[in-house]
Amino acid sequence: MSFSNLNEKQQEAVNKLDGPILILAGAGSGKTSTMTHRIAHMVESGIDPYRILAVTFTNKAANEMRERVEGLIGSTGGMWIMTFHAMCLRILHMNADRIGYNSNFVIYDTSDQKTLVKKIEKELGISDKEYKPQMLLSVISRCKEKAMGPEEYREVSPESARSKAVYMVYSEYDKRLKENNAMDFDDLLLNCMKLFEADEEVLVKYQQRFRYIMVDEYQDTNHIQYRLVSMLAEEHHNICVVGDDDQCIYQWRGADIRNILDFEKDFPEAQVIRLEQNYRSVGNILAAAHSVIRNNRSRKRKELWTTKEDGEKIRYSRLESDKEEASYIARQIGWLARDGREYSDFAILYRTNAQSRLFEEALSMQGIPYQVLSGMRYYDRKEIKDVMAYMRLVVNPADDLSLLRVINEPKRGVGAKTQDKIAAFARVRQQSMFEALSDPDGEVLETLPGKAFDKVKEMVECITLCRQERENLDVSDIFDELLVKTGYLKSLENDKTLESESRIENLMEFKSVIADYEKSTENSSIDEFMAQLALAAEVDNYDDGQASCTMMTMHSAKGLEFPVVFMPGMEDGLFPGSRAFDDPASMEEERRLCYVGMTRAEELLFLTSAELRMRYGRTDYTRESQFLKEIDSTLMTGDAVYQPRKGTSLGVPTGSRDGYAQKPYKPFDAMKYARMDTHKKSQGASVDLAQGDRVFHKKFGEGLVIESAGSIVTVAFDSVGIKKLARDVAPLEKL
Ligand code: ATP
Ligand code: MG
Repeated sequence: MSFSNLNEKQQEAVNKLDGPILILAGAGSGKTSTMTHRIAHMVESGIDPYRILAVTFTNKAANEMRERVEGLIGSTGGMWIMTFHAMCLRILHMNADRIGYNSNFVIYDTSDQKTLVKKIEKELGISDKEYKPQMLLSVISRCKEKAMGPEEYREVSPESARSKAVYMVYSEYDKRLKENNAMDFDDLLLNCMKLFEADEEVLVKYQQRFRYIMVDEYQDTNHIQYRLVSMLAEEHHNICVVGDDDQCIYQWRGADIRNILDFEKDFPEAQVIRLEQNYRSVGNILAAAHSVIRNNRSRKRKELWTTKEDGEKIRYSRLESDKEEASYIARQIGWLARDGREYSDFAILYRTNAQSRLFEEALSMQGIPYQVLSGMRYYDRKEIKDVMAYMRLVVNPADDLSLLRVINEPKRGVGAKTQDKIAAFARVRQQSMFEALSDPDGEVLETLPGKAFDKVKEMVECITLCRQERENLDVSDIFDELLVKTGYLKSLENDKTLESESRIENLMEFKSVIADYEKSTENSSIDEFMAQLALAAEVDNYDDGQASCTMMTMHSAKGLEFPVVFMPGMEDGLFPGSRAFDDPASMEEERRLCYVGMTRAEELLFLTSAELRMRYGRTDYTRESQFLKEIDSTLMTGDAVYQPRKGTSLGVPTGSRDGYAQKPYKPFDAMKYARMDTHKKSQGASVDLAQGDRVFHKKFGEGLVIESAGSIVTVAFDSVGIKKLARDVAPLEKL
């Protein structure tokens, strides 16, 4: 193999097989390609594939690397090309006995972990309300990422009830895992490191085996991954790491950018190879990406060049609304596809998973096949399915499947056995499970054990009330009521993890779905809404075999490339996210993410923003992303929707009305909003109403209270006549 297709620098890296090498280069400069060619060269030079180890971060990247190597030399033989976790798993399986495990150890997934922590809390007398298992687990995980055991955790933590609880649970959790011959995901990395540290013999065995080590995306390694790699390479120093400090986007998960910047300190004899030619993107895209990343202070200066033509300018459009944005992108894809492009040429890269919904809808509407990568389709998400199950029960109490889905969600102490028991009762009584539970005779409900009884009763009452009042209430009110009174929202709020935050964000996004529906019809009803939704959720264009355009977060797009890339939602507060405005380091990380996103594009890059965006059920004016302003304006062009005003922020004819938007900007905080909402609802419940009061109802307008007894208020509305309303939930305002 001649490798004459590679440039000089790349060839240098490919030909130098011995000694440490750092390939530090920008996006699309052929780092990954150089690595795969280097592997091919090794095999060609007679190096046993058995001696080669190549690691990366995601399964997708690992598979792609393997395929590329196979493309060059046919077979990868006994080579290890895999993710860090897969590598550790293999090593541990073969050596588990050395650190006190059986080789048939099991891996605990998230739900196993939660069950275990809960059990421990109970035994130790720690309240799982106050210290949510999920919260404890994420503290434990962060500790493990830093190789910090329970004792060390105690030493460095301030004395407080919280750290004491964490310490106690952490040490017990560790002990139990071991007793159960189990490891969690973090343990795979940590225990592998411990194995190497504790057992010279094993370490030497692997040091001798892996004479050639390569790591892709090295900028995103955390402390333990770094230690694993350094230990393996200690003996022979044949280590080649490749990466780009401008693409470090996992600091929030413990990735340490210094690992790549300090490589030369770790291996003073290291040869540093900088690749400067970009082969991926046309000139304008490359220049635009640089004009953004240049604003980061903490970076090694480097710039790429290309022999490609300048290509089209970056196309930026500010659309009137988020829906318009989605349909604009769908239309562009439709046009370009008619011009002869494959659907697989397109990628839509967004900042948050919640953004995918509008695109799914817009693409479906245009009949464009798509797939959502490493994220779920909006309506497949757990929290959305849960809340839909609650709503379905309001419409149809006979729906046992929905009841089973949510009866213990949030946890109400109704396990499988109790569920079976309820089902059996229901069968005998020839009722559905919900009907049996909600029967006024209370017979079935009363068979539940104490704690479960209270909670299930509360849930059943809430659903029954919503059902009775469903004609008087807006769908969005029913939604709020269900989220709050069933305890579902509260349990997510108490979680306080990144995951639960994103679930809340998705639920608030669901309010946008409802608001859209309510706006579209005169007589909204939950029955009709659920029927419409069933259709929307059913639309399924997903087909793996078919060429389809891809949607994913910018995070998951690392290392990939596409001819045409769309980056929607270029708005302050969304991208960069609102947190970045209080924290310069996180602003820089967002900027690197922007650079990663832009450099995925080969030929065309579209950026869009929406003047009005509905988030969390509320429509707000947005402000154009600060990153847009950083892009060299001569590289951009736009659709002139409105006449630009002189001195608008971007100075390009984007049709931006931003200069006119007077609405004060306020970053939005999902958690806060969720709480605000809860609060508002409970206030509504305490309105004091008496006969003769004038009231206002959101849906029915003004009316006169003609009777107010117990939980029921009877109102004669000026427009719709007499209605009986539930005092607790009716959106009534006294006038
Ligand atoms: P990223 O930083 O995004 O991971 P990278 O540096 O790993 O990018 P590659 O994915 O290896 O870059 O390469 C980018 C594109 O350039 C690929 O399509 C690859 O085939 C092409 N390429 C790499 N080197 C050359 C070369 N010498 N001549 C022509 N094309 C090349
Ligand atoms: Mg790469």
